[in-house]
Amino acid sequence: MTFAGSGDAFGSGGRFQACIHLRPAGPPSAGPVLLDCGATSLPALRRCGLDPGGIAAVFVSHLHGDHFGGLPFLILGGQFAGRVSPLVVAGPAGTRQRLGDAMECMFPGSSRVRRRFAVEVTELHPGAPDAVVAGVRTQAFPARHPSGAPALILRLALGGRVIAYTGDTAWTPAIAEAAAGADLLIAEAYYWDKAVPHHLRHADLAVHRDELTARRTVLTHMSADMLGHLEQARYETAHDGLVLQL
Ligand SMILES: [Zn+2]
Ligand SMILES: [Zn+2]
Repeated sequence: MTFAGSGDAFGSGGRFQACIHLRPAGPPSAGPVLLDCGATSLPALRRCGLDPGGIAAVFVSHLHGDHFGGLPFLILGGQFAGRVSPLVVAGPAGTRQRLGDAMECMFPGSSRVRRRFAVEVTELHPGAPDAVVAGVRTQAFPARHPSGAPALILRLALGGRVIAYTGDTAWTPAIAEAAAGADLLIAEAYYWDKAVPHHLRHADLAVHRDELTARRTVLTHMSADMLGHLEQARYETAHDGLVLQL
């Protein structure tokens, strides 16, 4: 997996917005897929030498621009590059509408164009039975993060590994549930310990450390404040271009 983008919405530390590339090992049974696709994701992927045209599915944690704003560029880029393989977009309820709105806002007419590849939107619902999206077993949990639609914490099983991803959320026990026994938890750590609404802090993860049973935890989506505390962090931290083998 590659953290193509490990930043917050505002370019803190010169980092790209959320964009995590997952490629299962061995013969391709699934993927590669993205976890979130912030507005800066195309340059982020290309810097890492990753082909946006090869992405089978994008899993969207919630409908904020730094998490889904790259989709219009990914879709139009595929159109102009002659993509033929389908692209699945899996996100919370409301994804179909908001993706269409975003495309129309940025590139009028683009949501109605006939392309050589299908864009298939799958909406994920917390509490629903596991979905299989582009070969990835997917479970959604409710996040606490207002974004005009439900926000999700995701648990994905692909290539024999389980990855949990908080997206953006205030602390909720659903994080521990989603991460239970996972090979990796990718956790937002927006601030070090300052109380900010709707987001996770390093302090929250430290307080709830014993409840988090993932084998490994990596922090992402860090503000300038959190980036100033990297040396004190009790977990591994991501940076743009970080590659992990699970
Ligand atoms: Zn957000
Ligand atoms: Zn965000």
